[in-house]
Amino acid sequence: MRAFSCDNCGQLVFFENSLCLRCSRALGFVPDRLEMVVFDPSGDDGLRPCANATLAECNWLLAANDRGSLCLSCGLTRTRPADADAAGLAAFAKAEAAKRRLIFQLLDLRLPIGGELTFDLLSSYTGPVVTGHDQGVITIDLAESNDARREQRRAELGEAYRTMLGHFRHEISHYYWPLLVEQAGQLTAWRELFGDERENYERAIQRHYELGPPADWSERHVSAYATMHPWEDWAETFAHYLHIRDSLQTASEFGLMVAGPVATDDDSLAALPPADTSEQPFDAVIEAWLPLTYALNAVNRSMGRDDLYPFTLAPAVIAKLAFVHHCVRSRTSAIADITRAY
Ligand SMILES: [Zn+2]
Ligand SMILES: [Zn+2]
Ligand SMILES: [Zn+2]
Repeated sequence: MRAFSCDNCGQLVFFENSLCLRCSRALGFVPDRLEMVVFDPSGDDGLRPCANATLAECNWLLAANDRGSLCLSCGLTRTRPADADAAGLAAFAKAEAAKRRLIFQLLDLRLPIGGELTFDLLSSYTGPVVTGHDQGVITIDLAESNDARREQRRAELGEAYRTMLGHFRHEISHYYWPLLVEQAGQLTAWRELFGDERENYERAIQRHYELGPPADWSERHVSAYATMHPWEDWAETFAHYLHIRDSLQTASEFGLMVAGPVATDDDSLAALPPADTSEQPFDAVIEAWLPLTYALNAVNRSMGRDDLYPFTLAPAVIAKLAFVHHCVRSRTSAIADITRAY
């Protein structure tokens, strides 16, 4: 995420702000520009707030002459809890906040958003909900917005990490698979790393829940869930890639760097996160990332919290992440080439 500033007074403002705490001007996020801007709520400066400003606590803006009433992010949601469902709507606002972070990153990475992509944000408190992706429709269980419930699920499943943003990142990965792999002519290379996706999915799920992951899963997979089926390995790896890209961007925006201590006999921990990792080979991304995670984990432990980054990346996992980096960069540079051609 970028570090934004108020364009009226220069104060640091966060992605979620709808007001500058220093000069009290109304603030909102303009997705076309990827910028937080001061705006006049009367609409006189050509911008107006999203109609979900209250319901979803949305701080995104639209052009005053836009025919719709919802912002780019809220407009992607097809189903939400009913107006009478107060608990569902509170969970919905939390989920939409995580989704805006997802959509920001997709725009920032210049990954396409459109076509059939829609979200159903439903709560399993009122009926069965299966989080997942099917032909562009992403379903998220809003009950996972409840911290106690999500933490309980995380512990039951033995997971190191479980967040709403993580769920969104996992599901969007399934959405991008045809585009970034199949249609990009990457299927053969992909199968060499991730396996054969033609393996029966229902049987794979059954096997996973009956037998659990192989004991040595961490040598080849970023999570135990990733062992279930090649598609889940892709989704877990791609989501992880989005975690790394976002966290490195935030570190760079705040000028975070690591310059010690000595980690081995002849080497110190050192990392200067680059401003734009899309231009970097993946080796450089990892070189900046790992020292940062050691330092941030240590900071979290100082606060008595669990590690910020509770993962170890085996060489086979880094190879898969590098492949994701290649797929994302190929797509982005293809778009840049088209833009240049006109
Ligand atoms: Zn201000
Ligand atoms: Zn909105
Ligand atoms: Zn999945």
